[in-house]
Amino acid sequence: MCFYSVKELIEEAEKRAVAISTVAKEMEAENQEVSLAEIEQRMLKQWLVMKEAAKAGLKEPKKSMGGLIGGEGKLLEEYRLKNRTLAGHMINKAVSRALAVAEVNASMGKIVAAPTAGSCGILPGVLLTVQEELCLSDEKIADGLFTASAFGIIIAQKASISGAEGGCQAECGAAGAMAGAALVELAGGTPSQAGEACAFVLKNILGLVCDPVAGLVEVPCAKRNAMGAALALVAADMALAGIKSVIPVDEVIEAMGEVGCALPESLRETAKGGLAATATGRMLAKRFLFQGETS
Ligand code: SF4
Repeated sequence: MCFYSVKELIEEAEKRAVAISTVAKEMEAENQEVSLAEIEQRMLKQWLVMKEAAKAGLKEPKKSMGGLIGGEGKLLEEYRLKNRTLAGHMINKAVSRALAVAEVNASMGKIVAAPTAGSCGILPGVLLTVQEELCLSDEKIADGLFTASAFGIIIAQKASISGAEGGCQAECGAAGAMAGAALVELAGGTPSQAGEACAFVLKNILGLVCDPVAGLVEVPCAKRNAMGAALALVAADMALAGIKSVIPVDEVIEAMGEVGCALPESLRETAKGGLAATATGRMLAKRFLFQGETS
């Protein structure tokens, strides 16, 4: 079983009056030739790794391998706990957790690539937040991950989930879109609303380039995870409110693929353009190279 468009996925869920996660679980069990119980267990295991990464990154942050990031998630969490914050409690909670997971990745800790290591903070960031805020079980969150994965598979087929191929829109954009769709389902929204949330995120990250400073998945990657988490929450709320995307979600995904193909090589993970090519970006790259030669 396979779905080549979000439209087909939504139609299947609506026809059977089930959640997208139910359809996605059945698809995975069939494709991997295992039982539903087995596939649920596997996803639950992934979720527990994600959750642990977020908690570890907040509790004991480590400096990244390149030394460019580390501790920002904890810093925001402390700020959130002491202040009212401008963006609000839930967004900042999700953002601090997304940053924490991205930091764990950059310090070679254990994460789940979702869909990639560079964008690994977004899903755990928002899912751990809704778990805590809506008192959801781990099993329920794993269902959200099935929904996210169904959207991720379609984005990968119709466009890309690789920064080297399609820019950061394909990594942090895809992760945010997957997260937005999952959030809608976990908050009780419809399959169509999940599709709208996916569209809202991608529309607002369209054209985002991949320009890692010194070729390291640190800057701007961690902060793009932060913004991806915020975007997913806002997109989910807009969809739950009944707002619709004028451009249908499948066309948005196709546009993302086309924009990715149009990006020059310098903006597709080569560290030759964008932020990587700024004066500071080049200075940091030189310093990292020098450290590597002397260590
Ligand atoms: S900037 Fe590039 S390496 Fe960093 S998260 Fe985005 S796609 Fe991945």
